[in-house]
Amino acid sequence: MPKGYSNKDGKPLINPQARKGKVPWNKDKKLPPLSKKWKDNIGKANKGHLVSKGKRIKIGNKHRGKIISIELRNKIKRGMKGKHNSPSTEFKKGEHKGENHWLWKGGQKPYKHPNSSEYKQWRSQVFKRDNYICQFCEATKIYVVPHHIKGWTNYPKLRYKINNGITLCRPCHKLTIRKEAQFEEICLFKLLAKD
Ligand SMILES: [Zn+2]
Repeated sequence: MPKGYSNKDGKPLINPQARKGKVPWNKDKKLPPLSKKWKDNIGKANKGHLVSKGKRIKIGNKHRGKIISIELRNKIKRGMKGKHNSPSTEFKKGEHKGENHWLWKGGQKPYKHPNSSEYKQWRSQVFKRDNYICQFCEATKIYVVPHHIKGWTNYPKLRYKINNGITLCRPCHKLTIRKEAQFEEICLFKLLAKD
């Protein structure tokens, strides 16, 4: 006897024979199609209700590869109009870009070295001191770049000081970009070790 069909004494709760031939009351019966009001009420009740992650994946899988007709797409478009998106989408739309961003500081000009003779002289002096060798990986016979230990933008007075320059290869110089402060100590240490 299947579980749940007997009481404590082992007697069946329902006599299986008694049900034989009887048609269940709900056989072939269907709920009437939901009215608009009813659908709206269901929508209201589900509003703000979080769908679990497993269920979300299931829903996603069910809809995968489904082709949405143009009419339906336009309908969704109309429904979405004026609605707020997730923060990441808001960023993509560019509402917080550039001047509208809270970290905007008036716009900095891109970092570019001048082609002045002063700069060229500083560069060749740094290279000569370091023998055109990358001071990080000690690579030779490579394309070298001069690196400002104290940044070009923040330390205008140190721009053409030879002690503020170090020879690096291109890959090593790439490592220092946006991490100038971190590499400052390493560069100074390398220069001290030379003397
Ligand atoms: Zn290197």
